[in-house]
Amino acid sequence: MKKFVLSTVLGLVGLTALFVSPASAATVYTDISTSHRAYDEISYLAKGDLTTSDKSFVFSPDASMTRAHAAAMIGKAIQLSGSSSTGKFSDVPATNFASGYINEAVTRGIINGYGDGTFRPNVTLTRGEMALLISRAFGYQSATTNDAANELMRKGIALGVGKGNFGTTQTMKRADFAIFLARSVNTDFRVYGNTDASIDMYVNTNELNFRKGPGTAFEATKMFFEGYPVKVYYTVGDWVYAKGAGTSGFFHKAYLSTDQPTIGSTKEPVTIPTAPVRKALNELKIIVDPGHGDTDPGASGYGYQEKNVVLDVSLRMKKYFQQTPLQVQLTRETDVFVTLANRGSFAQRNNGDLFVSVHANALNGSANGQETFYYAANNTANSTNSKALATYIHERMQEAWGLRDRGVKYGNYSVLRENTVPAALAEIGFIDNKTDNAYIASANRREQIARAIFLGTLDYYYHYDNRPEVALLYAKFSAKPSAKHY
Ligand SMILES: [Zn+2]
Repeated sequence: MKKFVLSTVLGLVGLTALFVSPASAATVYTDISTSHRAYDEISYLAKGDLTTSDKSFVFSPDASMTRAHAAAMIGKAIQLSGSSSTGKFSDVPATNFASGYINEAVTRGIINGYGDGTFRPNVTLTRGEMALLISRAFGYQSATTNDAANELMRKGIALGVGKGNFGTTQTMKRADFAIFLARSVNTDFRVYGNTDASIDMYVNTNELNFRKGPGTAFEATKMFFEGYPVKVYYTVGDWVYAKGAGTSGFFHKAYLSTDQPTIGSTKEPVTIPTAPVRKALNELKIIVDPGHGDTDPGASGYGYQEKNVVLDVSLRMKKYFQQTPLQVQLTRETDVFVTLANRGSFAQRNNGDLFVSVHANALNGSANGQETFYYAANNTANSTNSKALATYIHERMQEAWGLRDRGVKYGNYSVLRENTVPAALAEIGFIDNKTDNAYIASANRREQIARAIFLGTLDYYYHYDNRPEVALLYAKFSAKPSAKHY
């Protein structure tokens, strides 16, 4: 009977393990928006493949941090192997996604079981356990939970929960654990910055990568050469946090020595150009361009000016993007004048990846409807993607307001023509037409059109840019992906 129960448990754990998908460098969590309090820390850890989660593309920041995930994330940070293994715990079979990390952490004295042969992998981690775990994993030599808590507070890794109280028995959310782990790994995240002492060391190999974190999954920012002096502060597994040539980062410690190599001359470090890899979702920046401004009011009708209504729509769009991992920046956020040249080059100057210009039309009072423009010269790489972007935005505008459909069109506008990224220009309606103006004049309707243009942008990334994780973003806005056109 006991054997039967054990195999049932194994079966369940195995099933759970199927859904465990550690983030890869190209992955980002769709439930961590740019405005989330732990956005920087979780993004940093995810880029270096130091996070684990029970679901693909979802971090679940408010869920409880379990002992198994804590062991796995800390194990990844200090480069434990993580290969599945069978250890001494009856409740950690080799099929548990964290078995390798748990067993190696136990061997190294970083984590303990309960003394009854169990590890209790799904039990929530307490702040006291977290302090001891980090203290042991990062070599702080704290003998007791109190010592460990004090050390974390001294280093600016975790602050207390009240006057003189670390909150040792309080349980932890996953977002908080990520913050403490990021601070442990990289002093740039700590409350007081770097307070550790350093020793002088030298590069002892021909060429050595300086990385943003401890591990080859982190981006290399500089190349150092043999004999170059660096200051080393602390170790993270086999890596060290160091400063050299005016920057901070991580070296593999095997390629540093305290003795200066005897070589003729030492070359200055060189900056490594950013590799042309596909950006992760949270590295993409949408540029929203509210047309006109200040002395250029644009079109007008029924007491409304284009410059004001398109700014209002753009600011509403910004709020939508801020609820996603996508970054957003406006060419103007107030009633100021921006030249067409500065709009056309804005994405290039501000590291933008997509450009959406928002306008309202006017003609003779009788013309009406919505139209969306793209610029497609035969020789521009952005012609197809701009048309796809314009198409998805236009379809959403039609879905939202349903004004007369004037179509998706070629438009030789400077902000589209001069852009270096996929670009579209949306004409939401005719401000001088009575029917259209009633939509433009309504704050509720402007909210709808902002949401529509935002959703069209998601459709573009989901369908045309082939990013399946974007599918998870729609639910928050009570929406679904559009039909696929490109
Ligand atoms: Zn305009």
